[in-house]
Amino acid sequence: MSENELTYKRLLLKLSGEALMGSGDYGIDNAVIERVAGEIRDIVKRGVEVGLVIGGGNIFRGISLSASGMQRSNADYMGMLATVMNALAMQDTLERIGVPAKVMSAIPMAPVCEAFDRRKALAAMQAGEVVLFAAGTGNPYFTTDSAASLRAIEIGADIMLKATKVDGVYSDDPMKNPDAERYETLSYDEVVERKLGVMDTTAVVLCRDQQMPLGVFDINNEGALMKIVSGERIGTIVQ
Ligand code: UDP
Repeated sequence: MSENELTYKRLLLKLSGEALMGSGDYGIDNAVIERVAGEIRDIVKRGVEVGLVIGGGNIFRGISLSASGMQRSNADYMGMLATVMNALAMQDTLERIGVPAKVMSAIPMAPVCEAFDRRKALAAMQAGEVVLFAAGTGNPYFTTDSAASLRAIEIGADIMLKATKVDGVYSDDPMKNPDAERYETLSYDEVVERKLGVMDTTAVVLCRDQQMPLGVFDINNEGALMKIVSGERIGTIVQ
């Protein structure tokens, strides 16, 4: 299949920190990160330009740290630094399987990685490098979902894909309610009004205001990324 047949040529993929944890309850599961990196390699080989935002919830979450007494901004900076660790791990994994990758942080930290620069990021992606946008938005009181919406818009992605542990957006928690219904498509306003919990409201509203389509799919569904960029309807599309 030629590059021209791609439904999505440039995408922003959001992985939660938890997606890297596998069945553990902290940190990174090597088998999981290697499998996800392999799926990213496959779509890069097909000619897809990939920007990646990884969360930090597998290491630190600001809201949980502040619940135990830490000042919220400090707690959030710890969360943002956690996302840098995850991005470095993914950069390393991608490079080991032959995929050029570059971490760009919203908080400059010169010896560790490059500082975020939209034009450089675009040039790298166009040259076939995966760009990992780390440290969220660089601001406390935000999430990496909002960072993903922001970067997707900035790089002019065709779609933002949010990888989760379930195969789309449901009317209720499918793990708890067997009658929960999966939506094929939703509008941004339906997500917000029905409090569907796809992403935080800031992230959804940012996508809505800039008309950035959002796909939600199950990261454990092997090959799903390739199917999505090839035009197969998988998961839920919010637009
Ligand atoms: N965070 C932040 N500003 C941002 C992005 C992230 O303060 O722009 C902090 C926040 O404390 C958050 C943590 O980084 O809890 C990890 O990000 P997130 O919870 O979004 O990770 P995920 O749930 O995707 O693993």
